[in-house]
Amino acid sequence: MARYVKPTLDTKFHIDFDWWEQNSRNLRVDLQAQLCSECRAQYADRPPEEIDWVSPDTGEVKRVDILWHVIRTHCSQQPDYITEHTPVTTAVFRIFLANDNVPLTPVGLHQILGRKSPDLILRTIGGHQIYKGIRPVITPVRKEAKKAA
Ligand SMILES: [Zn+2]
Repeated sequence: MARYVKPTLDTKFHIDFDWWEQNSRNLRVDLQAQLCSECRAQYADRPPEEIDWVSPDTGEVKRVDILWHVIRTHCSQQPDYITEHTPVTTAVFRIFLANDNVPLTPVGLHQILGRKSPDLILRTIGGHQIYKGIRPVITPVRKEAKKAA
């Protein structure tokens, strides 16, 4: 288990795929909620489909729901993807879907959102309650792991 480190304004966050598995939450349901009306209609009756996703951060390949790709390439380009009425947690989730889950600090998120202070963003996503898998990037300590094994 990773040690809990209290996040700061310099802590990078991202969407942690493992959180969805650990909590038996269905990522697809939350992805569907972020689709624009056009795509929602188009993908409503299609069977689930997965595609390869390469982490821009680590180069790691994961299987992700095709809806992520649809959101990133289409829905996130729509003018009402993130508005001033979008709740902070939803807006942050949408930023990571749109930017291919490149880790960002609360300061970086604030620069994209253009409202809500970095402190408020940190308080919202940096607590013990995890929203939509958004949590600090935990860098695995590889050397120690090898020694232990
Ligand atoms: Zn769309």
